[in-house]
Amino acid sequence: MPQSQKHIGQAIVVGAGIAGLCAAARLCAAGFGVTVIEQASAPGGKIRSVPSPAGPVDAGPTVMTLKPVFDDVFRCLGEKLDDHLQIEKCETIARHVWPDGSQLDLSHDPAANITAIGAFSDSANANAFEHFHRETRALYDTFRSPMMETPEPSLPALGAAVMRKPALLRAIAPGQTLDTRLSTLFSDRRLVQLFGRYATYVGGSPFEAPALLGLIWQAEAAGVWTIPGGMAQLPLAIEALCIRHGVTFLYNSVVTRLKTNDDAGPTVILDGGRTLKPDVVVFNGDPRALAKGALGPDVAGVASDTRTAPRSLSALVWSFAAKASGFDLSHHNVFFSADNAREFSELANGHPPSAPTLYVCAQDRNRHGPAPSGSERFEIIINAPALSTARSPELDFETWQNRTFHTLAHFGLTFDPLPGPQALTQPSDFASLFPESLGSLYGQSPHGMTASLKRPRAKTSVPGLYLAGGGAHPGAGIPMAALSARHAVETIMKDRTLRFASHQTAMHGGI
Ligand SMILES: Cc1cc2nc3c(=O)[nH]c(=O)nc-3n(C[C@H](O)[C@H](O)[C@H](O)COP(=O)(O)OP(=O)(O)OC[C@H]3O[C@@H](n4cnc5c(N)ncnc54)[C@H](O)[C@@H]3O)c2cc1C
Repeated sequence: MPQSQKHIGQAIVVGAGIAGLCAAARLCAAGFGVTVIEQASAPGGKIRSVPSPAGPVDAGPTVMTLKPVFDDVFRCLGEKLDDHLQIEKCETIARHVWPDGSQLDLSHDPAANITAIGAFSDSANANAFEHFHRETRALYDTFRSPMMETPEPSLPALGAAVMRKPALLRAIAPGQTLDTRLSTLFSDRRLVQLFGRYATYVGGSPFEAPALLGLIWQAEAAGVWTIPGGMAQLPLAIEALCIRHGVTFLYNSVVTRLKTNDDAGPTVILDGGRTLKPDVVVFNGDPRALAKGALGPDVAGVASDTRTAPRSLSALVWSFAAKASGFDLSHHNVFFSADNAREFSELANGHPPSAPTLYVCAQDRNRHGPAPSGSERFEIIINAPALSTARSPELDFETWQNRTFHTLAHFGLTFDPLPGPQALTQPSDFASLFPESLGSLYGQSPHGMTASLKRPRAKTSVPGLYLAGGGAHPGAGIPMAALSARHAVETIMKDRTLRFASHQTAMHGGI
C-alpha cells in the first residue's frame, strides 16, 4: 500500500456492515487512505435484501431510528444525507395487535399516545404510560453521554450520572428486570408485553434483561424513518459517499488472517494470499471470530470473553412478495402471542417459540399514497434462539410455514401466494453469513445489570487493531453500530496523538 502524500496513513476496514461503512467514511474524513474488504458481493452486512418478483425485499433491519447519527456521518465528509436518500418519518411507529382482536397504534407524539392508550385500556394505564415515557426519557438523557457516546464507559461515571438523578434508582434497581418494572407501572398485561418487546431489539428477553433497557423505547419515540426502496438503500448511500471521497472497496474478498507487527498495524492477508500492510485495521465482523482464532493466533487474545459469553437472540426471517388481504396493515405491525411468558421461556431454553409473536413489515406501505393493490414486499421476523443455546434441531420449512401463516390467518391476514423455502432465513443461515456469530444477531446477551459494560471496546490489546460493529460497545442496532464506528475512529486519532507526543518527547530526550 503506497503512502500517498495527501494521506496521514492507510486504513483497512474488514467488513462493509453499517459500522464498517461509517468507520470508512470517518477514517476518510480524518485523512486516511481507506480500503474496505468485504467477503459478500455488496455492502450492508445484516442490512441485506433478497430478490423477489416485486423487487429487492429487506431481510434485515426494518426500523431506522436516531437519524441524526447518520446525518453526522455524511456531515463529516461535508455532505447531507437527505441530498442522497429519500427518508420518510413514520406517523405510526407500529400497529400492535393481540389475539383477542384488540389493536393499538403508537406514534412519536407522546400526547397522542396517552390518548390512544386511554382509549385502548383505561386512564390508569394512560397515566402509567406517561410515567414510563418520562422515566425512560430521563434514563436515555442520563446514559446517553456516559454510556452510548463515550468509547470507554465506566461504572463510576455511570454511577455519578445516576446519583445526580436519584429518582432513577427506583427504575433501574439491581435485579429488576424490564418485565418486573413494567408490571409495576402497567396493570394492563398487553402494555407490559408491548413495551417489554423492546428488549428483543438488542436480542434479549424482557424477563431477563435489566429494566434499563426500557430506554430503547425512547429511540423509537424520537422518530422512526422508512426508506422507500428498503433499508438496504442506506448502506448503498454510505458506500457511494465513501467512493465519492476516494475509499476503495474490495468485494468477494475474505480476510483470512491478521498478523501483528511490533511497530505498525496488523498485516492483513486475504484469501488468495494478497498481503496488505496498513497503519490501522478496523474489524467490523463479530468480535467472537477474532477470539475463536478465525483470523489466526496473533489476534485470538482480542475480545476473549466473547468465546464463552452468552449470546443474544437470533431470528427467523421471511422475505417475499405477495398480495395481502384481510387486515389493514401499517408499515410496521406486531401480532402478539397470547402467552409471552411461555414464548420467552421457550427461547431461554433454546427452543423456537411454539406460538410466536410475529412482526410484519409491509415495506411498500409508506406515509404517502394508497396501499399497493397488487403484489407487495413483506418481511416477517420471529425471535429464535442462537445456535449456542439451541438444544433442539431447527424446525422444518412446513412447521415454520404453519406457525407463521396459520397464526396470521387467525388475525385475518392472508398472503397469496405463500412464500417458498427460498424466502426463509434461519439461524443457521445467519451463522454462516456472519462467521462465529452462532447466528446471534446482536452480539453478546444484554442480560444482567452490567452487560452493557462487558461488550468489547473499540481499542484492542493488539496495536493498530480496533473494533466497530453491533458486537462491540455500545451494542447492536444500526445507530449503535454506527456510533461504535465513531468511537473506533476517535480512539484511533487519540492513539495517534499520544504516539506522536511520546515520539516527540523521546526525540527531545535524545537530543
Ligand atoms: C433480521 C434482523 C432485523 C433487525 N432489525 C433491526 C432494526 O429494525 N433496527 C436496527 O437498528 N437494527 C436491527 N437489526 C440489527 C442490525 O442489523 C445490526 O445491529 C447491524 O446491522 C450490525 O451492523 P455491523 O456493523 O455490526 O455489521 P454486520 O452487519 O454484522 O456486518 C459485518 C460485515 O463484516 C463482513 N465480514 C466479517 N468477517 C469478515 C472477513 N473475515 N472478511 C471480510 N468480510 C468480513 C461480513 O460479511 C459482514 O458484511 C436487525 C438485524 C437483523 C438480522
